[in-house]
Amino acid sequence: MSAPKTNISNANHALALEQVNNNVNLSHLISALQTTLNIDELLPLFSTELSTSVNHSGFTFEHDDLKINIQNGQRTNHSCEYSLAIEDTSLGKITFMRRKRFAENELLIIESFLSALLHPLKNTLLYRQAIQSAHTDPLTGVLNRSTLQSVFQKETAQAKRHHSGLSLVMLDIDFFKTVNDNYGHAAGDVALKELTNCIEHTARESDHIFRLGGEEFAILLNSTDLKGADLLAERLRKAVQGISIKHAEHNFNFTVSMGITECNDNDTLENTMNRADKALYEAKESGRNKVVSA
Ligand code: GH3
Ligand code: MG
Ligand code: MG
Repeated sequence: MSAPKTNISNANHALALEQVNNNVNLSHLISALQTTLNIDELLPLFSTELSTSVNHSGFTFEHDDLKINIQNGQRTNHSCEYSLAIEDTSLGKITFMRRKRFAENELLIIESFLSALLHPLKNTLLYRQAIQSAHTDPLTGVLNRSTLQSVFQKETAQAKRHHSGLSLVMLDIDFFKTVNDNYGHAAGDVALKELTNCIEHTARESDHIFRLGGEEFAILLNSTDLKGADLLAERLRKAVQGISIKHAEHNFNFTVSMGITECNDNDTLENTMNRADKALYEAKESGRNKVVSA
């Protein structure tokens, strides 16, 4: 059973809340919440502070726009859920859980604690947003080149540990200059977005997609050997061929070429990219709309 959904905003302090505030010392909480800008630290810290006054077995936090979903502790049959906001800005939804039903006075204490969370939470969300946009390509929403090195390092370490394959696909749109020349730059942008959607739908959730610049993309496929990468790339090639772009009065198709390679244990990002790039060059030279393995 859930307690009724409550909106917590800085404009919504009931008289009862004031009474609770007089009894709960929030100054320690407020200083504790100012020690981090990382939401993955802030919320557990908040939960720990809250547990000194209201026992709970866990919490969840969701922010749809920023794609944040944090689960902490055990899911149980009783919960209380709050939508958090400052003025018109939504700060997400937090839910506290435990086996025993939350009493009225406990809900008031939670609300009192939450009112101290609003501003620190807003700061961590702004910080998260800034980090995300620094690593994201604004046109397509996929990762940009700046994160490729760190993701590659993480994935190669993982592949080495688990003896699982790791493969890289380098992809480039064929004759994209002609697309822009014939149908306009805006139509070219639509093609880039449609291509990104197609890659996202064809690849697995755990794969990493990067727009390296212009009409060139890299896809890092974990737990995938060269054979698996070839299957994915062929599926993607055919799917792209089937995209029909309608923009203004134009209706057109486009194709892509890909170079693929599997990473060896001692490969650097540079080695791997060079190999895949060479294969991509061969795909272009031998007629385009092709996948070549290195
Ligand atoms: P190839 O098959 O050899 O790859 O030929 P291509 O025409 O695709 O390659 P080229 O490098 O000659 O041209 C790339 C074009 O991509 C030129 C540029 O105008 C276009 N481009 C780069 N970035 C963007 C973008 O963000 N939006 C649009 N619409 N076009 C872009
Ligand atoms: Mg091209
Ligand atoms: Mg290119």
